[in-house]
Amino acid sequence: EGKVTISDLDKVYGTGAERTKAIDNLSHEVPSGEFLSVVGPSGCGKSTLLYLIAGFLDESEGTITVDGDPISGPGTDRGVVFQDYALFPWRTVMGNVTYGLEQKGMNKEEQQTRAQRFIDMMDLDGFEDKYPKELSGGMKQRVSLARTLAYDPKILLMDEPFGALDQPLRELLQEQLLDIWRDLNKTVIFITHDVEEAVYLSERVMVMTRHPGTKKESFEIDLDRS
Ligand code: ADP
Ligand code: ADP
Repeated sequence: EGKVTISDLDKVYGTGAERTKAIDNLSHEVPSGEFLSVVGPSGCGKSTLLYLIAGFLDESEGTITVDGDPISGPGTDRGVVFQDYALFPWRTVMGNVTYGLEQKGMNKEEQQTRAQRFIDMMDLDGFEDKYPKELSGGMKQRVSLARTLAYDPKILLMDEPFGALDQPLRELLQEQLLDIWRDLNKTVIFITHDVEEAVYLSERVMVMTRHPGTKKESFEIDLDRS
């Protein structure tokens, strides 16, 4: 559950002089349950890749499958966590975390019970009735993670999720994420421009590079963790 297969993927933005090939013939398989980090300089196509997998963007060529099924648009099998949290400002912590469960049509009582479990997991108990503007950055990102985890995606897609946090908070959230990954057995695709963060967190690191023009290469480093 949660295997992502990317085959001969191209993504082109614009046309003519404006044409940018953000992803050039990328093939890669992310096995079920793997924690993959994607690193590379700004503009190399990391976010584009993540949003293609999320189904927010359409590919120009190639396919992306999840457990063998081609994706078509966003789906609750894939949960996305953004650097800027993307919380609903008019909803409380509880309201943010129940959002995806409402969409799934779960009844109110089940929603609350399930949401509470993930609120507690993210050490947010006592903050259920707070609004995002009343929370620190670290707490907002924990709400965002709770919201995403609550609807039980097989795959967590994270776009520089800790990029806006200071170092102690970053390390705390890194630990929490690793605990979640181990306990809940999710596939994680984690974008960062911080190579140290990538190496610290992941089993495997995909490096995307940017060349003048449109050429791009990627390769992976397998880390010996024994
Ligand atoms: P990264 O996340 O690694 O910084 P991006 O995926 O954001 O890279 O961008 C890859 C390339 O695609 C860059 O050259 C960027 O300018 C271009 N690009 C990204 N989004 C768009 C867009 N909506 N329209 C046109 N070009 C875009
Ligand atoms: P250095 O001392 O070489 O600067 P650090 O140990 O400070 O390296 O950090 C390297 C990276 O790994 C950072 O992104 C940091 O957040 C992460 N990191 C290192 N050790 C830990 C730890 N014990 N807990 C959480 N994150 C850590």
